[in-house]
Amino acid sequence: MSDCLFCRIVSGELGAAVVAEDEWALAFRDIRPQAPTHILVIPKKHLGSLGEAAEEDAVLLGRLLLLAKVVARGEGLASGYRVVLNNGGAAGQSVFHIHAHVLGGRHLGWPPG
Ligand code: AMP
Repeated sequence: MSDCLFCRIVSGELGAAVVAEDEWALAFRDIRPQAPTHILVIPKKHLGSLGEAAEEDAVLLGRLLLLAKVVARGEGLASGYRVVLNNGGAAGQSVFHIHAHVLGGRHLGWPPG
């Protein structure tokens, strides 16, 4: 989608600090980090949110989580990290191209705000 911010990062039209990539997904540093490590993992194919996911997206969703694990390992987050999917405006989703936040490097409180 040409008007989607993260699709423009996937296409290379917009720059990002990419840390990992595979056939399915791209991982790059969040521009406004909320923890010492804050990386976004997005599918290369556009999908607006988890709420829009269908059966046919099962592999895409699995690949997203697997790349999140690879990224966390690469960042040395052996003591723990959090993977967050904000779904919808009330949950704080501001970019409507599904993305997993990988957060770590500090104590993460529970429940999240
Ligand atoms: P959410 O609020 O869950 O939709 O998360 C969107 C995230 O995208 C926020 O944490 C933003 O800081 C981040 N973000 C927005 N624009 C960019 C960008 N150009 N590069 C990297 N991260 C971005």
